[in-house]
Amino acid sequence: MMLITCPFCGARDENEFRCADEGHIIRPEPYTDVSAEQWADYLFYRDNPKGLIVERWHHQHGCGLWFNVVRDTVTHEIKAIYEMTEPKPDLEAL
Ligand SMILES: [Zn+2]
Repeated sequence: MMLITCPFCGARDENEFRCADEGHIIRPEPYTDVSAEQWADYLFYRDNPKGLIVERWHHQHGCGLWFNVVRDTVTHEIKAIYEMTEPKPDLEAL
């Protein structure tokens, strides 16, 4: 079991949350100039690193708000939690 600290509610059991994909995925624009390969990359391909990853999490059985989590995919240790409006932290410094 993971204990996740919602930036709005505090520490809660992981069962209250839903992980919803990698964070900071930028939609390619303008759509008229986006190739099929770029669009497929945006929709389907993720980095899946061994180590630190930024993920979007939703506190679906709590406040209902979204936030970002920096998690180690090997140990599941959470290195940082921050609001959606904050910039991506330097993963090398964590
Ligand atoms: Zn919450």
